[in-house]
Amino acid sequence: RPRALSGIQPTAGSFHLGNYLGAVRQWVALQETHDAFYCVVDLHAITVEQDPKTLRQNTRVSAAQLLALGIDPDRSTLFVQSHVPEHAQLGWVMQCLTGFGEAGRMTQFKDKSARQTADHVGVGLFTYPILQAADILLYQAHHVPVGEDQRQHLELTRDLAQRFNTRYGKTFRVPEVYIVKDTAKIYDLQDPTAKMSKSVPAGVVELLEDPKRSAKKIRSAVTDTGREVVFDAAGKPGVSNLLTIYSALTGESIASLEAAYSGKGYGDLKKDLGEVFTEFVTPFQVKVREYLDDPGELDKVLARGAERAREVAAGTLRRAYERIGFLAPA
Ligand code: ATP
Ligand code: MG
Repeated sequence: RPRALSGIQPTAGSFHLGNYLGAVRQWVALQETHDAFYCVVDLHAITVEQDPKTLRQNTRVSAAQLLALGIDPDRSTLFVQSHVPEHAQLGWVMQCLTGFGEAGRMTQFKDKSARQTADHVGVGLFTYPILQAADILLYQAHHVPVGEDQRQHLELTRDLAQRFNTRYGKTFRVPEVYIVKDTAKIYDLQDPTAKMSKSVPAGVVELLEDPKRSAKKIRSAVTDTGREVVFDAAGKPGVSNLLTIYSALTGESIASLEAAYSGKGYGDLKKDLGEVFTEFVTPFQVKVREYLDDPGELDKVLARGAERAREVAAGTLRRAYERIGFLAPA
């Protein structure tokens, strides 16, 4: 079985629709075909300031959401990044292989740092794609299911793997990005030209918020002038985004949705999508609450995952250290 690896940050309590449709849905599907490793990347979360109690709670809430969305800990290895110290260790090695200019070309850093004053932008925010490369390479992953915003970071990961292999001999598999085109980028409901994002909470639909609130956000989504419900990503980004979400949640094709809404208006589409979303999240929220009601059991699941992850990660790190020329401890 090929390996898959991906991670999600516990920076907000709740995942949003972009996280689910762009990434986690594919994680669930890949369990059928892959030996999958999925982690809550708490080391990445501290690239921006986190309150300790909230971070700890959000890490559990993130794991509970992954379980509720269908990650099966008996089939996949589900763990918390900081439980596997090899991530930070290989991360350092990868930092030493990365050019300063190369890291500086990461557009996500430019976007995220532009939203903060220079003193608040930590070096960790700058180097996090390099730690992410280590996350992936430790597991010799074939495929990395992510949203479109991660494509550039995956390119960096591939470059670093190749660079290490060239310099020290073949050690890492060069991974491939796994992006499902239709849902690769879900847009913010208030700004349908920007990606829906945990760190910009304007038009974000959160899976754990009151579905009434989500339905309201959907009803007040920014749409375009005109009235026809047709998919046109360039001309009608707002309506197209709603159609993408609708189609992904119901399995109905965009074409059949267009046909169903011909002669109706944006208001009908939004109202119905609010209901579709409510039907989707209501049972999900119940499950999340059940997992969180038993944090002891949840922590056990994560401990088992970390143990399995460490077996693989430690083996890879040991080989990498040896190739680099680190003296093995006697
Ligand atoms: P932040 O803005 O703080 O980086 P985020 O919303 O991007 O938060 P992450 O935890 O960084 O959340 O991303 C988890 C996964 O969700 C990644 O694979 C990412 O590509 C995917 N993802 C995030 N936002 C979207 C989106 N709007 N559409 C599709 N996929 C997305
Ligand atoms: Mg992100």
